[in-house]
Amino acid sequence: MKRFKYLSLIITSLLLVLTLAGCGTQPLSSQNVLENDKKSNTITWGVKADQKLIGLIDVKDGQEKGFEIDLAKAITKKVLGKNGNAKFVTVTSQSRIPLLKNGNIDAIIATMSILPDRKKVIDFSDSYFDAGQSILVKKNSSIKSVKDLNGKTVTSAVGSNSVDNIQKIAPKARVLQLPDFAQALTALKSGQGDAMTTDNVILAGLAVENPDYKLVGGTFTTEPYGIGINKGQPDFRNAINKGLAEVIKDGTYNKLIMKWFGNVPGFDYKEVLRK
Ligand code: GLU
Repeated sequence: MKRFKYLSLIITSLLLVLTLAGCGTQPLSSQNVLENDKKSNTITWGVKADQKLIGLIDVKDGQEKGFEIDLAKAITKKVLGKNGNAKFVTVTSQSRIPLLKNGNIDAIIATMSILPDRKKVIDFSDSYFDAGQSILVKKNSSIKSVKDLNGKTVTSAVGSNSVDNIQKIAPKARVLQLPDFAQALTALKSGQGDAMTTDNVILAGLAVENPDYKLVGGTFTTEPYGIGINKGQPDFRNAINKGLAEVIKDGTYNKLIMKWFGNVPGFDYKEVLRK
């Protein structure tokens, strides 16, 4: 009996060592994300939680909902097979790259533009959406275009490219940076700003819920969204790109565009359909 106890202790310790060696203790750079995800049958995605139509946690059931959520689920099934799981972790514009680099998430699908500076720290998939920066104002506002923002206060989110863009395009605008876009909207609504700026698709989602607000000035940048992946993961990146191409080819992509953006004032879904 005593011997059995020792034996089971040794086996348990061995198992523990093996388990630890298999996951957290190995440096991220030497892990193969695709292999790990195949083993766990799960891809962990960093998604937005406060952007209606794109990535929003529904307070009624606690579920993430939106175009990027559905797209992540569709790509997961292409990469892992139809029983593959997509797990979601909430990110903001500021936290998304650190969370990826720390290994908390496998991929970012969170309205993130493919930018040369970001490419220095992470890799991107092929582009999966074409957005452009725009402006949201109260319906009776005198602001009609980006130039009218000079001398005005405009709200946006920390860590978003929208802040850098507006500082270049309307250098005399004051930019009030909030932790996320939900708070940037609250600041606008409470009169702390004269306008809010970020990508058209994000603003259009906010305008759906806030009919007193509208998009003005068209788009004044191009923002190609890419899925963020850690460097040194070519297998995972290729699998994601292949999955995305299949989702576009089999018509799922355009179905999702229609589902989420088919009837949104101030946003023309036809411009973002993929052939
Ligand atoms: N697409 C822009 C960016 O990547 C703004 C939206 C966002 O921050 O999520 O920075």
